[in-house]
Order: sequence, then C-alpha cells, then structure tokens
Amino acid sequence: MRASLRYLALGLTGALGVTGTALGGSAAVAREERQHERHGPPVAAEPPKVPTMTGSGGAVSSVDPLASQAGIDVLERGGNAADAAVAAAAVLGVTEPYSAGIGGGGFFVHYDAGTGEVRTIDGRETAPATYTEDEFLGADGEPLDFATVVSSGKSVGVPGTPATWEAASEEFGTMDLDRLLRPAERIAARGFAVDENFAEQTAQSAERFRMFPETAQVFLRDGEAPEVGTVFRNPDLARTYRTIRTHGVDAFYEGSIGRAVVDEVRDPTTAEGVDVFAGELTEDDVAAYEAVFRDPVSTEYRGLDVYGMGVPSSGGIAVAETLNLLEAYDERTGEDLSEVSEAQYLHRFSEATATAFADRNRWVGDVAGVPVEELTSQEFADERACLFDPAAALPRPIPFGEPDGDYAACAPSGARQPEAAGGVSTTHLNVADRWGNVVSYTLTIEQTGGSGITVPDHGFLLNNELTDFNFAPVTEGVKDPNLPAPGKRPRSSMSPTIILRDGEPWMSVGTPGGATIITTVGQIITGHVDRDLPLVDAIAAPRLSSRNGPEEADLGLADSAVGRQLSGLGHELVPPPRRWIGNASAIRILEQGRFTSAAETERGYGGSAMVVRPDRER
Ligand code: GLU
Repeated sequence: MRASLRYLALGLTGALGVTGTALGGSAAVAREERQHERHGPPVAAEPPKVPTMTGSGGAVSSVDPLASQAGIDVLERGGNAADAAVAAAAVLGVTEPYSAGIGGGGFFVHYDAGTGEVRTIDGRETAPATYTEDEFLGADGEPLDFATVVSSGKSVGVPGTPATWEAASEEFGTMDLDRLLRPAERIAARGFAVDENFAEQTAQSAERFRMFPETAQVFLRDGEAPEVGTVFRNPDLARTYRTIRTHGVDAFYEGSIGRAVVDEVRDPTTAEGVDVFAGELTEDDVAAYEAVFRDPVSTEYRGLDVYGMGVPSSGGIAVAETLNLLEAYDERTGEDLSEVSEAQYLHRFSEATATAFADRNRWVGDVAGVPVEELTSQEFADERACLFDPAAALPRPIPFGEPDGDYAACAPSGARQPEAAGGVSTTHLNVADRWGNVVSYTLTIEQTGGSGITVPDHGFLLNNELTDFNFAPVTEGVKDPNLPAPGKRPRSSMSPTIILRDGEPWMSVGTPGGATIITTVGQIITGHVDRDLPLVDAIAAPRLSSRNGPEEADLGLADSAVGRQLSGLGHELVPPPRRWIGNASAIRILEQGRFTSAAETERGYGGSAMVVRPDRER
C-alpha cells in the first residue's frame, strides 16, 4: 500500500525555519501579505550549502539545498532512492527553473539493490511528427541562425520529465507522485529566497525573457531580475504541480497542461515587435510521448563496472570510450595513469576525450544500428590508442574511427569532423538509500531558460532541446546520425553515471554543462580513481574539456605551470564561454552503510551535499 500523505503536511518548511522577506514597495508588500495568508510564511531560509558530508542512512547531492533537503526528508520518512530523486527533481523544477523542470527532459539511471540491475529511463524530448532532416534549414538551404531557433517554438520538443517521474516512481519507487510533488508545490507556493545563482541566471536571461510577456511576468520583477534575498514565488507552477499530483501525468500528456503547451508552441505570445518561429507540436505528438526503459551502457575500468546512459545520449558511450582509451594508453606506454605527472595525466585525458568526441559525433544519434557494443569495447579503444603520442597532442580535429569489429589495423579511416554546437545549462542529482539503491539523474531544459517560452498560467519554461539536433550534416558526404526526423530524440551529452565494485554500488556522479558533461564526468572519475583525490576535491579540480577542438580550461588551469606544460605538448587551451565548466555532484558509497556526499566548492556558487545522519551526530 502507498504510504500516507501526512509527512508532507509537516514538510520542508517546518524543518527549515522562516525569515522575513525583502520585497520592496507597498504593492509588493500587499501581494506578500496576501500570499502569506493563503500559503503560510515563505520558505526563505535555506539549509546551508555544505559541499561534502559523510554519514549513514542515505545520501543526496545536488546544486541546491532545498532540493537535497527534499530528498533527505523522503529518505528519512522511509522512501527509497527513486522516491527521493523524484521529490528532489521536482524541487529543482522550482528553484532551478532555468535549468530543469516539467517543460524539459532527462535521463534517470537506477541501481536496484534487490535485483543487482542497473536500468535507465530515457526521458528525452521528442521532435514533432512533421520534422524532417531539413527542418532547421532556411529557404536558401543554409542552416537557420542558432540563437533565433533557440528562442522560438521550433526548438521545443515534447517534454519527457513528467513521464520520467511517473515511470521512476511506479517502477522503482514506493511513493506516488501525489506525495512526492508536495514539497516542491509547497516551495513554489510559499516561495524561496533568491540566491546569487538564481539572480545571476535571471539577469543573464532577462533580455530574452522580455521577448515573452508571460516569462517576464513569472520570472522578472518590473522587467529585471529579482534581487538576492528577496522571496520568489511561482503560484502558477504550484497549481500545475497540484494538477499533476492529483490527476496524474495524463493531465500533462492528454489534458489541459499539454493543450496549453501545444497552443503556446504553435503560436508563441511575444512582446510587441518581437516575431519568433512558431513550432509544429500537436496534441497527438504530446499524447504519443513515452519515457522508455533502456539498458545502460557499461565498461570495466580498473576493475570497476561503470554504467551510463546509452542512445539517445552519447554520454555513457563517450565516457566509456574515454576510460577504455586511458587503460590502453597505460598499456602502450607501460606507465600507469596514477603514476604520471599532472601534465601527462591531463595530456592523456585530453587525447582520450577528443578521440571519444570524434567517434560519438560520427556514430551516435537516435538512429537504428548505433555500434554501441563496439564503441564501448576495449578492442576498439586499443586500436584507437595506437595514434597516441605521450610527447605531443594529436592535431585537432582527430579523425573518427571505424567501430567495425576488425581491429588489426591502426590507421584511422574517417574524416576530421568539427565539433558541433552545444548548450551549457542543466542540473544533476544523486541519491543513495540505506538499502543500497542508487539514482544518478540529469535533467534539463537545454539552454539556461530553455526556449524562453513560459506556458501561460502554468509557470514553467519550455525546453529548446531540439536545437541539440545538428541543423545540417557535420561533414558533407558523411552520414550524420543526429539530424531531425519525426518523433526523433536529439542526441545528448548527459552522462548520469553509476559505478559498481564487485557488484555493489560504489559511486554516483553527474553534472550539467552541455557537451562538457562528458569530459567533466570522465575527469571526476579519473581524479578520484586514479589520482587519489577525495571526491569533493576531484569535483573541485580545475577542468579540461577537450572535445576535438580548442580545449576549454577553467579555474586558472591555462595559466598554471601544468597549463604551460600542456601548451608545450601542443594543446590549445582557451577559457570556457562561462566562468566555469559544469556544476557537478556525486556520492561515494562506503563500507557498512556509510556514504560520502559531495558537490561543488568552486563553481556555480557551490552545491549541496547531505546525508541522513552525519557522522558527527552518530
Ligand atoms: N541539451 C544538453 C544535452 O543534452 C544538455 C544541456 C546542458 O547541459 O547545457 O547534452
């Protein structure tokens, strides 16, 4: 039987305490008082952001303390990892609305302690049934302007997140959505304190948000970002969550919410003088949506079993190939990754990820016949590794390989393809429970603020995930697996990862960051496994994102002694487009029911790592 709803009435707010609000002006004060009467006091005090915590009873890590706390509350009240992950994700839809929410999609990787199986839920958005290969080409046959497509109905795919939450809670969880969405609904109704991250992301998006009056109304205050410390409420979203939890996700896919999505995508409401592309989504497209259970991809690395997300993500495949290549380089050089200098470590890492990107760009997309087994095999990596030179970076772009099962030859046979464009937003969370179940879940609306289009009266932004398709073939004459097609899911880089050791869960990790997701996840794994860094330090370490072109480096890496050595080896280090690469989180499952939860210390104003019973309280 499903558990009662009572604990949710006690909910997050009881645990968090309340402070006053900082809304200015008498209209704001009056609105504040009305809201206060209706919903109770705001959730203005967040739990502190703690970047690492060790203890027992279960663990959660994410970018946001309210989300982590919602997950911990569920675990404390007897819910399992899947339950906690859905509750935490729903809160992220409120507090990180520019990165994730019910208007987007994601990938949910789950380890089941009962069966010992890792399974995944593919909640990726789908293209309308009318989309064909030339959807993103203009009348002149040239690709449409990327930014113009992003902020339009054309970029919006059918959201997969509500279906993912339903699938996760029904297949893996013990609680239903009616219960799991309540903490998020409550935070949306009562409000939360705007932090630096939220204010900064809103300010950066404000110009785009002003294009869409509904978005400006929900997310801006008098046309500008709300100030840090003020209370942000989203009563429309609270009502939408309420509808979903009381009527089920059919209210989304076959009901009023879906109809509102379709109406807005097909005829976006814009500010005066603003004209954007209309989308082609229909009610049939929305009703046809299904979150899909898929087998994970996996590889063995240093005796660990690494499980990730398969097609339509390229994440699990590229992370696996990277790790296999690193093992192959050890073999070729006779020197282990754990023994080499920092510069040689990053050199190898860069060569491996660039090679993996060459291969994923050529071979991976939501098409039949992707050679997943071959791409993730050690034999393929061994062949690809024959290009590796410990003393010099290969010229970029590295040509793609042939994952054809015939690995005698060394010479690469493919073309040199440039790396395609990608987004930089998204969010990730990890949960491990006391029974040994683990969830690694990355969810997104693609760019920060998605398409910029908010569904009127529903309080959530729609994704621009369809811009993850290639607008035109990357290389003329070379088949491109990532062109749009009816109902197709755009290729992703999201890499939620679960690692087992001797069949037992050992680690969960993931991050936002568009295509840099793959390199960040790979670097955290190697940092912890090979370079002996504690998990929180592996997350904090300066990142190198080498994706078969110039290599992005953050946190001063380029100007450091190691950075100069890398340049000396022929690596072209450049600053990332944003200050930081990614915003990762992870959990290590320790012996005897203990966990170390870890998040960012250096990026994105920090993350939030929690355990149910911290060690100091034992
Ligand atoms: N849409 C991207 C992907 O699926 C994720 C967006 C991001 O992290 O910026 O790879």
